[in-house]
Amino acid sequence: MERNQQSRRKFLKQNVLGGLGATLAPAVLGGSAAFAATTTPAILGGESAWNESRWPKWPRWVPETDEKKLLEVVRSGVWSRAGVVTEFEKEWAQTLGAKRCLTVVNGTNSLVVALNQLGIQAGDEVIVPPYTFIATITAVLSNNAIPVFVDIDPLTYQMDPAKIEAKITSRTKAILPVHILGMPADMKRIMQVAKKHNLVVIEDACQAHLAEISNQKVGTFGHAGCFSFQNSKNLPIGEGGAIVSNDDKFMDKCFSYTNLGTPYGTAVGAISTGSIMQGTKLRFSEYQAAIGLALLKRLDEETTLRNQNAEYLKSMIKDIPGIVPYKLYDDVTRCAFHLFGFRFKEKEFKGLSRAAFLAALRAETIPCSSGYVSLNTQPFLAETFASDTYKKIYSAKELDIKLYNERNHCPENLSLVNEAVWFTQNMMLARREDMEMIASAIKKIYDNADKIKAAAKI
Ligand SMILES: *Cc1c(COP(=O)(O)O)cnc(C)c1O
Repeated sequence: MERNQQSRRKFLKQNVLGGLGATLAPAVLGGSAAFAATTTPAILGGESAWNESRWPKWPRWVPETDEKKLLEVVRSGVWSRAGVVTEFEKEWAQTLGAKRCLTVVNGTNSLVVALNQLGIQAGDEVIVPPYTFIATITAVLSNNAIPVFVDIDPLTYQMDPAKIEAKITSRTKAILPVHILGMPADMKRIMQVAKKHNLVVIEDACQAHLAEISNQKVGTFGHAGCFSFQNSKNLPIGEGGAIVSNDDKFMDKCFSYTNLGTPYGTAVGAISTGSIMQGTKLRFSEYQAAIGLALLKRLDEETTLRNQNAEYLKSMIKDIPGIVPYKLYDDVTRCAFHLFGFRFKEKEFKGLSRAAFLAALRAETIPCSSGYVSLNTQPFLAETFASDTYKKIYSAKELDIKLYNERNHCPENLSLVNEAVWFTQNMMLARREDMEMIASAIKKIYDNADKIKAAAKI
């Protein structure tokens, strides 16, 4: 009893006060990774798995190799879109095997623009998965369309192609699959459904740089592929995004739309061309492109390492009771592993709660997160449906949020959001022995689950 109370006090001190609710422990740690051969979990007062931690920092910046072009750009004074942006676009298109690439300010707007230049507008429905970052959905709403949620495949976490057809109506215009966690969605089957129903496909590949299906890069299966270069992403530029496609006409329109409606190829400042369509301004800048070109040089090598580490880690934890790692579709040849995901099954893990499991992992200095919360039931949808704009477009019945929620109920997604655990992509750039460290920490927590449960009461 006495000991239990002490442990509980320690648990609360370390985790509740220290921010049990925080989504991620500091991802940037340094020092030696010598494994502490203690059998007592850190959360119960044992030594943490790492006496000093050292997850790779993100983003990575190596002055000797990364700075030359950036400094040239900064010193040149040509900062608005010019030759370096074009060079980056060519490189990114070539890297993916796409005909064209257009950079924009961020991944969110790459989706907004791809949708509207493919004709998605007020009155249309777009099929989306519920297990994604909010930007996927707001891109649909930004075009005054309605997102229709298709539940996920519980093993791969991706939009379940078998459930798409039941959601298609006369208003459906597009399918917007997301390669979530950097693992490819089932693009072959999704494209079959799209073809059969004459739908446009826009891939949200914002987490999936260099991921592949049958050796073809994701983002190149649909009519358009959208990427993000936000700081956390596998190709980080702070902010940034790109649209890729093989459709010249569409890409010309995207250029015009994001450059105040000027004809394709118009240089910055060349106002004499006039504008051929309504547009806005979402341009990338030269110094962003210079950073992108520098980091792109490492992306392939980093992606290989993430794949090796993720597979190794998966092989070590898959047989621990209550730990069910991600599964890939059979034709996946490479993953981006923006996140390493698995399900935590409380019952099989001796009844330890996921919150207590995450706290115990963090105590071992292993950063982790429970990932997304349920997206399709968040207030932003009801708020949008209650807007004057939506009331002008849709009938009261179409905007009845209760009916909408019933139609968009996604039970598999609810189960996943309650069970998911994530590690971030930079952790997959650590050493092989660091993967062993994660696995042994999870085993240690499992072995002591009863004691942790008693101490934690969560
Ligand atoms: C990051 C992300 C986006 C948005 O990209 P930003 O560059 O942050 O605007 C869209 N979809 C998914 C799945 C993402 O992870």
